[in-house]
Amino acid sequence: MKIALHNSDNMRFPSLPLMKLAAWHKAQGDTVEWFIPLMNDAYNRVYSSKVFSFTPDEPNLPRDVIRGGTGYGLSANLPDAIEHIMPDYSLYPGFKASLGFTTRGCIRSCPWCVVPGKEGKIHAHAELEEFLRPDCRDVVLMDNNILAHEHGIRQLERSITLGLRLDCNQGLDARLIAVDDALARLLSRVRWSKSIRLACDHKSQMPAVESSVKAIRRHGGKRYNFSCYVLVQDVEDALERIEFLRGLGVDPFAQPYREPGSKKVPAQNLLRLARWCNHKAIFKTVSWSQYQGGAA
Ligand code: SF4
Repeated sequence: MKIALHNSDNMRFPSLPLMKLAAWHKAQGDTVEWFIPLMNDAYNRVYSSKVFSFTPDEPNLPRDVIRGGTGYGLSANLPDAIEHIMPDYSLYPGFKASLGFTTRGCIRSCPWCVVPGKEGKIHAHAELEEFLRPDCRDVVLMDNNILAHEHGIRQLERSITLGLRLDCNQGLDARLIAVDDALARLLSRVRWSKSIRLACDHKSQMPAVESSVKAIRRHGGKRYNFSCYVLVQDVEDALERIEFLRGLGVDPFAQPYREPGSKKVPAQNLLRLARWCNHKAIFKTVSWSQYQGGAA
């Protein structure tokens, strides 16, 4: 069979489901390639993946395309035989790290988040070795709340034994670190490839973020930078968290709120705050009020 893959969002960050589908189809002896609209008649099957609902639809996909990903709605999971296969990393030659989930789901149910509806309660998903490529020590973990499950914590410990460098790119839950010093100690021992990423989506999380950062630093994690996701639903509210993080020496990353499933672009003032906060040269030299006044 001739299989075509279509990544709706962009080619900068790999689609894990497409990598797994490619690996599985190649193991069946199928030919797998990227979707080219002009070749539509030549394909036996086309898969399209989409994470973000605001990504425009590709008009040239065939009518019987198999769609997956939150951008298309809360879609069904892959069958186990595909879900737990070693991803085909050759699809994205520019991406050098291993990529996967060790847990799925979350213990919380934040009203702005699609994870609880899509993945349910937190549960163990895979051992690190399931998706560990032999040619690289860098691993990107996309777990939504890795610290909330014993299995996830064990994988972090295992990463130290295996000499891996981690990036938990969905952010760590500071509320769990703040009440468990053993977690802070563990996180200070993990080798991080980028910063230690936390999340501060609501003002109520500020004390936990502060305690977590201080505890990890106290345990020796000073050599790592911290960054923190900041959900932006209201400018003044987000600004308070951004300046609080600046004061802690933590790098804020603002994310304007988008309603799950909506194609609506966030309000201009939210986008403007995010541009100011996330452009580090501006953020470090120009205050928000100066930026508002048009100084940059
Ligand atoms: S803690 Fe994070 S992953 Fe869990 S529901 Fe809240 S936003 Fe979603």
